[in-house]
Amino acid sequence: MSGGGTSTFFGQTEIRDLGTATLPANASLAFQVPVDSTTFMLVADGGRAPDIDIAPIVDPLGATWITASFNDLDPIGRTTLQAAGQSVAAGLFPHSTTYSVPLGTYQFSVLNFGSATQSAKVYALLNRRQNLSAGSLIVNVHFCGLNDLNAGNAMANPSFGVLLSEFSRILLQAGIQVQVAGTYDCPASDQTRLAVIDDVDGNQNGLPDELEDLFSQSGNVTTRGLSIFFVQQIDDNDGDASIFIAGIAGGIPGPGPIVGTVQSGVAVAIASNRIGLLSTEALLRRGRTMAHEVGHYLGLFHTTEQCGADATQCEGFTIPIAAFNVDPIPDTPECPTSFDTDGDGQVTADECLAADGLNLMFWTQPSPPQVRNRLTAGQVFVLQRNPLVQ
Ligand SMILES: [Zn+2]
Repeated sequence: MSGGGTSTFFGQTEIRDLGTATLPANASLAFQVPVDSTTFMLVADGGRAPDIDIAPIVDPLGATWITASFNDLDPIGRTTLQAAGQSVAAGLFPHSTTYSVPLGTYQFSVLNFGSATQSAKVYALLNRRQNLSAGSLIVNVHFCGLNDLNAGNAMANPSFGVLLSEFSRILLQAGIQVQVAGTYDCPASDQTRLAVIDDVDGNQNGLPDELEDLFSQSGNVTTRGLSIFFVQQIDDNDGDASIFIAGIAGGIPGPGPIVGTVQSGVAVAIASNRIGLLSTEALLRRGRTMAHEVGHYLGLFHTTEQCGADATQCEGFTIPIAAFNVDPIPDTPECPTSFDTDGDGQVTADECLAADGLNLMFWTQPSPPQVRNRLTAGQVFVLQRNPLVQ
């Protein structure tokens, strides 16, 4: 059993360092933490460990939130706390409007699901913010391998301004004011290597190693915040080099204001080596991608995954539970497989316009002039509770 330790503060959030767990293969270590705030996070940073989980979790009243089993639907609903292949496990509570956070002492365990000994730094983030309807999100913006965009010129670049304004507009719908604290360039030695994220997942965890190297740069900032990385291109990691990814988040949620981990950030592909080549429509879509990925990082799942809300098996999902095809938030619309009018096995935003096709967290964007930017009250509830919003 471990607990206690030193604290630092991010706004009104106390980041309590619960210590480092040294975990042999398939071993776990129990922790307990007194929680005096109505929203909090747990984070276990396993460095580049192949699979770190947080489970089970039991609340102060003795109710199990997350069971030890990794292939069931947990009592608090879908989370990534037991997702395969994450170096960093993170949970935001509450992550839906269906339950609340009793004050008192929580019991949880950190598990190393890998085959070698790993160590994980464990944190509890106690968010004592009182006004949970309006706040600020501090972001640090990083640039890697773009010929006409860098830390020195970005904030005066009109194209980047269009992108950033669309991002800020969408977050303001949730009562979140975006503040850019700093701009950063990738180290010169990485400007070429990390401009296109196209490597394989060498250490067999969830993210490509280049993405991990990118996100690790979040530790180089002067003001703690959410690091957002702009690169030329992100390739699909499944070996099909013809599939490009618009953006990717370091977790659902990411590790909040814990910077410097391999999952501490969001990456957005400009899909060009020059932002100046993009049309206004393309820039707006990049801004919406940025907002979508930040939505993931702050704790939002896709409202409907690509297979459809009632599909029996989503591609890439190992657990055939329909609740995993949608988010755990009750007021978000869902798009069933009956909307898949072309029968290709995917529900697209254009097919789901009468459901959640225009929600910011739909899995893909609709065709112009439709705009993927809506948020429900339940989604705003979650965004406002992430400790990155202060
Ligand atoms: Zn997404």
